[in-house]
Amino acid sequence: MLRDRYHRLHNYLRISLTDKCNFKCSYCMPVSQHSCLQQRQLMSADEIEKIAAEFVSLGINKIRLTGGEPLVRNDFGDIAFRLAKLPVERVLTTNGSLLHRHIETLVNARFSSVNVSLDSLNPHAFASITQVNHFHRVWKNILLLLEHRIRVKINVVAINGFIQQEILRFIELTGNLPLHIRFIEFMPFKGNGWNSEKVITASELFRIVCNEYDVVKLKDEPHSTARKYKVIGYEGTFAFITTMSRQFCGECNRIRLTADGKIKNCLFGKEELDLLAALRTGMPLEPVIRQSLLLKHQTMGGQFTHGYRNTEAHKIFNRSMVNIGG
Ligand code: SAM
Ligand code: SF4
Repeated sequence: MLRDRYHRLHNYLRISLTDKCNFKCSYCMPVSQHSCLQQRQLMSADEIEKIAAEFVSLGINKIRLTGGEPLVRNDFGDIAFRLAKLPVERVLTTNGSLLHRHIETLVNARFSSVNVSLDSLNPHAFASITQVNHFHRVWKNILLLLEHRIRVKINVVAINGFIQQEILRFIELTGNLPLHIRFIEFMPFKGNGWNSEKVITASELFRIVCNEYDVVKLKDEPHSTARKYKVIGYEGTFAFITTMSRQFCGECNRIRLTADGKIKNCLFGKEELDLLAALRTGMPLEPVIRQSLLLKHQTMGGQFTHGYRNTEAHKIFNRSMVNIGG
């Protein structure tokens, strides 16, 4: 069992497979082009399998693959099948653009759920956020996942002034499709131009939805970061991830591994321990993993101590999001 100093049990590992991405989302990719890791700095498929197996032996029962864009890795299939040998739930976060190439892998390696990022239902607005023209491809791939009976959650980063034009269209999507739309409050990371004016809180978004629809609260899953709702009579659900306005660190069960094999004990954590170096030098992994958890802060990596409205983004010490793997 993996516990931190605050007795929180950690059973969910998020592994970033790469810091490369075929999109350039404005809220994620740093304004100054970020430099990609060299091949030798990345964890290989074999190293990922070994590290994941160690975590599983310590009580991890769910693994999410993320990035950068995890599906740009040529050996994604190899990694997926190696992880399928472990007794864990497997899930993925992706921008959706390459899913059609990997759908068989996801089915055969028994991925239970896929989170697809989609911030706009307007192809032009989609292109202006991501810098690529792949809206229709991503949408087709979302339908492909549903055809294969894989649970789909759509991640929408809510940016003030922009999301207001989109939110009701997203809610309407849940009418006939079993989609789970999650609106994520915009978070600050290195180089993403964050300021508190760009944040629109979940309660403001909720008000917009309630002005148009009759909504019910649903039960949230244990450890979930999302507060879940449904429009009465609609097939899908929607939820808010309130990282900025209402933190949910009390139940945190997550631990992260960057693509270069550093353990990050919190999305906003400054302390990183080099697990890949330990593996490559033949050191035992368990003490490094336990040490990382002992360094975990009670909330928000020990940062954001004055609330998000008073946060000065340049004083937050962190990687850019594409280098962490959300
Ligand atoms: N490329 C994949 C994707 O876009 O889904 C996986 C990696 S991406 C870094 C993981 C998630 O982080 C995405 O859902 C993305 O929308 C979210 N994200 C990135 N930057 C964010 C930010 N500044 N605030 C909130 N969520 C963010
Ligand atoms: Fe790439 Fe995902 Fe970041 Fe967009 S959010 S730039 S798709 S890693």
